[in-house]
Amino acid sequence: MVTVRYVESQCKSALNRVQGMPFDWSLNPYRGCRHRCSYCYARTTHAFMGLNAGSDFDSVIFAKVNLPEVLRRELRRPGWSRPAVAIGTATDPYQPIEGRYRLTRSCLAVLAEAANPANIITKGTLVVRDTDLLLELARRAGCGVNVSLISLDQAIWRAFEPGTPPPAKRLEALRRLAGAGVPCGLALAPVLPRLTDSLPALEAVVRAAADNGAQWLWSGTLHFEPVVRDWFLQALQRHFPRILPDYERVFGASGEETRQRYAPTAYAAGLSKRVSDLKVRYGLAGDHRPAPRLGQFIAPEERQPGGEHLPVYRQLPLPA
Ligand code: SF4
Repeated sequence: MVTVRYVESQCKSALNRVQGMPFDWSLNPYRGCRHRCSYCYARTTHAFMGLNAGSDFDSVIFAKVNLPEVLRRELRRPGWSRPAVAIGTATDPYQPIEGRYRLTRSCLAVLAEAANPANIITKGTLVVRDTDLLLELARRAGCGVNVSLISLDQAIWRAFEPGTPPPAKRLEALRRLAGAGVPCGLALAPVLPRLTDSLPALEAVVRAAADNGAQWLWSGTLHFEPVVRDWFLQALQRHFPRILPDYERVFGASGEETRQRYAPTAYAAGLSKRVSDLKVRYGLAGDHRPAPRLGQFIAPEERQPGGEHLPVYRQLPLPA
């Protein structure tokens, strides 16, 4: 049995400069995540605290209790040009602990007060609680909520995201945000080879996004640092042992040297094309961003002509 430990911690800075990502600044109210997604690339951040990327990431959760005050100070710094801040890049800002600490809510209030745009990514349905502040921020500066969902399949949800709200609940949250007028879309990432990358599986998510009011959709592939790969492969071994050899062939077996940290380029390109075609089909291909300063989370999309007919795909090939 896992004992969950919540730790109140102080932070020296609220905003982190990020390189090599589609956003420049990030904000994370917590460290660790009770949503426990086995593929989570943020697991490696627990090593900074001398903890492991597996069970410790899932069960030792740090709450940065002074974050709103530090953020307020940083937003007043001379020379701060109010770039969009990405919230939830290394933890889920609406995981259950937010119900107690309300740090994400307090930070949204500070951002709205400073008219500083922000984007949120979350699997937590608690985000709906903050509809008032999200609307205020959208009006004053620009904001967007990216509801994260990789599959509608119950077996995949239970196997790889055991602490998250069920897919249907996340879609309901998306629908409620959209209905209230909050700019929101869907993050379909990471797509899991052999598990969630078939055309029917992807289509089910894209259709559900469109049906529930998403204004945009973006997708992404796996990023496996070695410790994350090893943790994910354990889950794969438990729940889908038949496809374990496919992953080991591409990414390396548990404990071995990493073969590659990202999905192969040709695979990623095929996936991107597949999702782009589906977005055309379901009306999510254009630039639906309502707030001009919104989009650092949203990969630029090429407009696709037509969209009446989808090509027929076979299984995406993973290289031998
Ligand atoms: S919800 Fe996000 S931060 Fe939390 S475990 Fe899942 S992928 Fe990681």
